[in-house]
Amino acid sequence: MIAEVLVDIPHKALDKVFDYVVPKDLEDSVSRGQRVDVPFGARIITGFVVGLKDATQVKGLKSIKTIRDLVPYFDEERLRISSYLAEKHLYPRAAYLEAMLPRGLSMKYERRLRVVDMNRLPKPLRPYFRETSDIAYDEALKKTAHLVREALETGALEQYPVISQQESVKEVDVVRLKKTAKVRGDKQKAVLEYLRNRGKPIDRKRLQKATEANSDSLRRLEKHGLIDIVSEERYRELQSLYNLKDKAVTLSEPQRDVYQAIKDSFGSHKTFLLHGVTSSGKTEIYIKLAEQALVKGQSALILLPEISLTPKIAARFKSRFKNQVALYHSALSTGEQYDEWRKVLRKEARLVIGARSAVFAPLENIGLIVMDEEQSDSFIQSDAPQYDAKEVARMRAKTHAAPLLLGSATPSVSSYYYAQTGRYELLELKERALKSLPPELRVVDMKSEFKKGNTTMFAEALQKAIEKRLFKGEQTLLLINRRGHAQFVLCRDCGHVVKCDDCTISMTYHKTNDVLMCHHCNKKQPMVKTCPKCGSFHIRYMGIGSERVEAALKNLFPEASILRMDRDTTGKKQGHEHLLYAFEEEGDILVGTQMIAKGLDFEDVTLVGVLSADMGLHVPDFYAESETFSLLMQIAGRSGRREKKGEVIVQTYDKDHPVFSDLQTGDYESFYRRDIAYRIQARVEPILSLTQLLVAHKQSRLAYHRALEVLRRLKQDGFETLGPSLPKIPYKNGMYRQQLIVRHNQAKSLSKTLGDLMDTVDMKRERLIVNHYPRDF
Ligand code: ADP
Ligand code: ZN
Ligand code: ZN
Repeated sequence: MIAEVLVDIPHKALDKVFDYVVPKDLEDSVSRGQRVDVPFGARIITGFVVGLKDATQVKGLKSIKTIRDLVPYFDEERLRISSYLAEKHLYPRAAYLEAMLPRGLSMKYERRLRVVDMNRLPKPLRPYFRETSDIAYDEALKKTAHLVREALETGALEQYPVISQQESVKEVDVVRLKKTAKVRGDKQKAVLEYLRNRGKPIDRKRLQKATEANSDSLRRLEKHGLIDIVSEERYRELQSLYNLKDKAVTLSEPQRDVYQAIKDSFGSHKTFLLHGVTSSGKTEIYIKLAEQALVKGQSALILLPEISLTPKIAARFKSRFKNQVALYHSALSTGEQYDEWRKVLRKEARLVIGARSAVFAPLENIGLIVMDEEQSDSFIQSDAPQYDAKEVARMRAKTHAAPLLLGSATPSVSSYYYAQTGRYELLELKERALKSLPPELRVVDMKSEFKKGNTTMFAEALQKAIEKRLFKGEQTLLLINRRGHAQFVLCRDCGHVVKCDDCTISMTYHKTNDVLMCHHCNKKQPMVKTCPKCGSFHIRYMGIGSERVEAALKNLFPEASILRMDRDTTGKKQGHEHLLYAFEEEGDILVGTQMIAKGLDFEDVTLVGVLSADMGLHVPDFYAESETFSLLMQIAGRSGRREKKGEVIVQTYDKDHPVFSDLQTGDYESFYRRDIAYRIQARVEPILSLTQLLVAHKQSRLAYHRALEVLRRLKQDGFETLGPSLPKIPYKNGMYRQQLIVRHNQAKSLSKTLGDLMDTVDMKRERLIVNHYPRDF
């Protein structure tokens, strides 16, 4: 028997399937989807079995060494998904297979040194090998490189490769009573006594603590055949600061209608878009539906954006479903993630709650897939290997004949378009579940603040509102739009932003040569000295950071307890959860980036302030307006979620932008009509897709030359293509880059053309990078 093995080296040139002989004694246990160790060149590496066959034309084959996972980690479904994604993104399939596994399963390749002849070993090296006969190669080299080399040459040492998994199963010793007998020694007596009273096995550590017996006593008891000590596998327990009570909720009438519509479609594939205002009880519906799937003996997958930011939602599911839930996201430790994943593989957990990567969970017989906050771009993995979890979710829902439920308070314009045009079924919830009033929203014009002489970052109204909250002991959230950090140019007098005449997206300021540039079409112009619209000199590029805001706040409100949440403050494991918990317990003001906009449910937050609300509007991105609208709606939804009415203050230089009136009336429809009209005109999603190609070369001139070649081929095949232009990052990893942008609605045939082009790439000096999800240019 011959196995087709995909080797685990994510490198385009090696993305090939190699044939290996399956040794006779492994023939019964080998199957597709397993990982195997195979010889590759001079090394042993791990690969994936993607096919089995009886014969091959290839001569002189090597054999599989071992099978790593007897139970295959990939079923047909996920093997198929991996090959689909690899073809679409022109990226190695092995990288996708890796991405489907928990981090802890990726392989560590290590070289080690072993003593062959201690007598011939140079004296200074001997101490290293006194306790052990082998040590890690790199560690040895650090100390005495030349001696190690010499010993290798004389044959006193030899090196050998080791492959191991990053993470392993956690095991603990468990003690069981076999029989009692008279023993000497108080400690031993105590142990037997304790075990008899308990009547069941116990962890060794706990036993020793309870009886103060040491390992010697236990070993003696074991030797006399009175107890057994065996090692048992344990899952690492996930800790959460939130321990919620399971509360039984009866769905309201509108909730029940939504629930019923989806429940009725169990067993067939259909996509629903649930448009429900924040706090309308969407999550309660997800819980009830998941329950239903489990009752029917099926499994369910719930995807949330950035689950680590919303520990409470996870806790709600946990309180309802207990051990049937596996949580899966990247903020878990490697070991925890590995354990949660194994619970799913072994079908001990049939409900998976997770972020983007959970879409690859090894679930079988899926009855329901939910994607909450479906508009969130965190469902797109934009770093390689790229994928859109929504697309994968749709593929899986189809395979399992299960409904896919997309939920949001501000659906993505594309999803809403599909709901309007009949591809999705639209369901709506228009009221908050707890009948709390929607917050009052005010838009403040920063231009007039500036004219009034207020040059601080905070409008007078916002300062007053914060003071009031501090006085009443209520809480404030302050949002800084980080996407506004891009260096666009704004007039502080009239709010004008310099945009590309051709593309309608903002131009980016380049400090080094003092020019403005459109990263979409490559148009350049000198930096303006005065506002092209009103002539003011107060024109400059913008961007404020959360640290500066925090410092300014401390100045204004020295007594307040101010917390800051951004990448810098949440680096540690469970960093988010600790910070959010601390804020809920004793904070006055939480300053943060987009991170704080999503899903937070704090009772005492009655004020939300948005600094620089229009920043996000000027990011050179076709989707800037929808992104901003949805962010502002979300953050507004964090205020006044219980009895107390909330207030939202939005600061902007562009008060008349229609997005703010939609925000004030909470009118999604009006926003949608404007944005879809714009998108139809700009010919972007959902009308056409944009694919960015980066042509990279070690030589700048050749990068441009190659880009022209790629352009020619694309045009030849009928693809509308812009460029070459300079990308946002024009030089990376030792290569110069040129950008091409393809507008299309046929990903399949584009992949084919790109596949042909990819074959011509000389990996020694050039790259062709395909990005199906470009955002700001
Ligand atoms: P969403 O997911 O739409 O933001 P949630 O499901 O989180 O809304 O609901 C908001 C709050 O209202 C939660 O505290 C939830 O427990 C509560 N809630 C939702 N539906 C009901 C209901 N039918 N009866 C009582 N409380 C409800
Ligand atoms: Zn101006
Ligand atoms: Zn342009």
